[in-house]
Amino acid sequence: MIRTRRAKIIATVGPASAAPFMLRKLFNAGVDTFRLNFSHGDHATHAAVLRAIRALEAEVGVPIGILQDLQGPKIRLGRLPGGARPVDRHERVTFVQADRSEDPALLPLPHPEIFAAIAPGHRLFIDDGRVRLRVVSVGERIEAEVTEGGMLSNRKGVNLPDTVLDLPVLTEKDRADLAFGLAEGVDWVALSFVQRAADLDEILRLIDGRAGLVSKIEKPSALEEIDAIAARSDAVMIARGDLGVEIPPEDVPARQKEIIALCRNLGRPVIVATQMLESMTSAPAPTRAEASDVATAIYDGADAVMLSAESATGAYPAEAVEVMDRIIRRTEGHGAYARTIAATRSHAEGTALSIADSGAVLACAIGARCLVAYSMSGATAQRVAARRPALPLIVLTRDARVSRRMALVWGARSVLESAALDYDSMVSMAREESARLIGPEPGDSFVILAGVPFGQSGSTNNIRVATYR
Ligand code: PGA
Ligand code: MN
Repeated sequence: MIRTRRAKIIATVGPASAAPFMLRKLFNAGVDTFRLNFSHGDHATHAAVLRAIRALEAEVGVPIGILQDLQGPKIRLGRLPGGARPVDRHERVTFVQADRSEDPALLPLPHPEIFAAIAPGHRLFIDDGRVRLRVVSVGERIEAEVTEGGMLSNRKGVNLPDTVLDLPVLTEKDRADLAFGLAEGVDWVALSFVQRAADLDEILRLIDGRAGLVSKIEKPSALEEIDAIAARSDAVMIARGDLGVEIPPEDVPARQKEIIALCRNLGRPVIVATQMLESMTSAPAPTRAEASDVATAIYDGADAVMLSAESATGAYPAEAVEVMDRIIRRTEGHGAYARTIAATRSHAEGTALSIADSGAVLACAIGARCLVAYSMSGATAQRVAARRPALPLIVLTRDARVSRRMALVWGARSVLESAALDYDSMVSMAREESARLIGPEPGDSFVILAGVPFGQSGSTNNIRVATYR
């Protein structure tokens, strides 16, 4: 089976989709990569899902990506007396450093780092920004004035858009989750709440090449170092849930376009995430605005679009995937798509990217049927994909992990091989495998991109035009 859709679909697994028959249903509806959200669920539950996905992969014979999303230093309220209390606009409230509070006048905030870094005038948002406060004074306690009232309840999420916290980006829980994920062989690890490029040092060391690192962009401070963060990551997620709380919602679309352009330029896969089909958590059809949002991410040139609650806990997980698949295919089939992608394609910089670009241009110019990237590390394939060529892109690799990572990369369809011993046998293999997927006529041509000699990663240096027999 080969999917003709270019952009990829990521679906978050949760109670609504964790059963093996549901995973199969979601895959059949179009999922390329499954996301396991480690903000929820225990290791036993995640292990069962991981195994079910690998069993499904073996059954369908298509590489399936698995993305482990680490919770990161998510800030939450502690436990309130009675579990909840309303706050009114203009009310003055007091936060204390505690896990729980018995005094309804004191709100527990179990994060000493906040008390050390927050300052008067900083904003403090609770429950996805529904309740908003501005800090008046800071000492042992934080006094704040409510600017938007509402209901507070136990363990609600807190966002501090103005405060750079001295928090380790990897918590104890994240370290344990990461060790578990790597042992289970996840393909990608997503790091939440990255604030600076230096936040990536430790996790890169811990992962040590065993998985790709996805940096989640959901803090204003990350936007200031976005070039360095993207360059050091293997992929980037525009995590609009938290980002859209910490920066004004009207700024999110422009940031989305900028980050996608930057990632395309660097050859880093980029994911647009959160609330894409939000209303489908409880309805079988999306709103017009949601359909438009998915299409916009595709026109922007995103590698992948993601479902969160829609597939994890919603009432219509498979329908959400089907809708996403249909919107992507309809958008990619529209004349404006090729024009928009061409208009936003940057100049190819550097030798390897220029060669990848030339191969793609050449293949189109000679009417080739497809591009084949022979790629040990996936780097050549990613460079070709970054140029968003209009032709099918088949990735031949002998590394199963690379083939699975391609399930996040725009346009890439990977095939595992193990027989190419030298350049000529690689060409024969490319001919055979691509013919199987494309169904060409004898005499049709195709273009192979590779790094020669094989096995030296980062060296796309060879373009070969070949013909089918
Ligand atoms: P989350 O990340 O779902 O883990 O919060 C995505 C987002 O914030 O958009
Ligand atoms: Mn988030």
